[in-house]
Amino acid sequence: MVCLYLVLPCYNEEEVLPDSISCLIQKMEQLKKEGRISYKSKMLFVDDGSQDSTWKIITKAQAVNHMVAGIKLSNNEGHQKALLAGMFFAKEYADIVITLDADLQQDIERLDKFIDRYEEGYEIVYGIRNDRKTDGYLKKITAKAYYLLLKHLNSGISLENCADYRLMSKKAVEALESYPEVNVYLRGLIPLMGFNSTTVYFDVKERTGGKSKYTVNKMVNLALDGITSFSIRPIRIITMVGFLVFVSSIFMFAYIMIAWLRRITIPGWASLAVAIWMVGGIQTLALGIVGEYIAKIYLETKHRPRYHIDVIAFKE
Ligand code: UDP
Ligand code: MG
Repeated sequence: MVCLYLVLPCYNEEEVLPDSISCLIQKMEQLKKEGRISYKSKMLFVDDGSQDSTWKIITKAQAVNHMVAGIKLSNNEGHQKALLAGMFFAKEYADIVITLDADLQQDIERLDKFIDRYEEGYEIVYGIRNDRKTDGYLKKITAKAYYLLLKHLNSGISLENCADYRLMSKKAVEALESYPEVNVYLRGLIPLMGFNSTTVYFDVKERTGGKSKYTVNKMVNLALDGITSFSIRPIRIITMVGFLVFVSSIFMFAYIMIAWLRRITIPGWASLAVAIWMVGGIQTLALGIVGEYIAKIYLETKHRPRYHIDVIAFKE
C-alpha cells in the first residue's frame, strides 16, 4: 500500500482551516478503509508565515490526530516555496505526495483518481481545472492572455488551466530537488523534468471563507517568474526590434540627406515628435525587460536558501 502525504500550504487561513482539516480527515479515513493508502499516510500543513492563528489550529489538530502534521516557515515565502518546503519534507516519509490548496477549492473527491493514475505507473499526475467559473471576470481574461503569451514564449507548451493540484512520486520530488533555482514556477518547471505523466480533471469550488491570499502583487511576481524562468525570447524580440529600428534609421538617414541636399527640408515637428516618443518608448520597454532578466540573475546568483523551517509539529 502506498504512503500518501497531502501537502497543503496555508497563509492566514484561520477561517477555512478547521473545516478543511475535518473534511480531509474524513477523506483520508475513507481512503485508508478502502485500502488505497497505508496507515502511515498524513496531511502536512505548511504554514507559510501566517500572522493569524493558522499555526495554532494546525498544532491543536496535530495533538489530537496522528494523521495531521505541520511545518511552520519562518517567513511568508509565497505559495510556490511553501509547496517546495512541504514536498521536500514529505518525501522522506511518503511514496507519493499530492499538493493542493488549504481552502479546498480543489475537489478532494478526485484524490482517488490521482492515486489510480499513480498505480497505473505514472510518476506525475497533473490536475487540470475544468473551467474558471469561480474566478472573477478580470482574472479570467488576464489568465487567458497570460497563458497564451506563455505558450508562444515557451515553445508551444500550454499550461492553461494548470493548477498546483498535482501528484508526484518520491522519485519525481527527488528529481525536483536537484533544480537549484531559488525563484520557482512549478507549473513550468515540473513538465521540463520529463517522467511518465498524465492528467486528472477536477472542478473548482468557491472559497468557503476568507479571501484569496494571492494579492495582485503576488500574482504579478508569479507571472514574471513564469516568463523569465523559461524563455529568453523576450530578449530576442528586443534584439530584433532594435535591429529593425537600426535598419530603418539608415534609410531615414539617406532620405534626410537627400532632402537636405535638395533643400526641401521643412519644419517637420510632428514626425520628429512621433519618432522621439516611439523610440523612447521602445528603448525604455527594452531596458525594462533586460532589467528583469538581470534582476533574476542577481537574485539567483546569491544562492539564498529558499525557506527556513521554524517549527515542526510531526509524529511518525
Ligand atoms: N498561499 C501561501 N502563501 C502565500 C499565498 C497563498 O501558502 O503567500 C496558499 C493559500 O493559503 C492557499 C493557496 O496558497 O492554500 C492558494 O491561495 P488562494 O486560495 O488564496 O489563491 P486562489 O485560489 O485565489 O488562486
Ligand atoms: Mg483558493
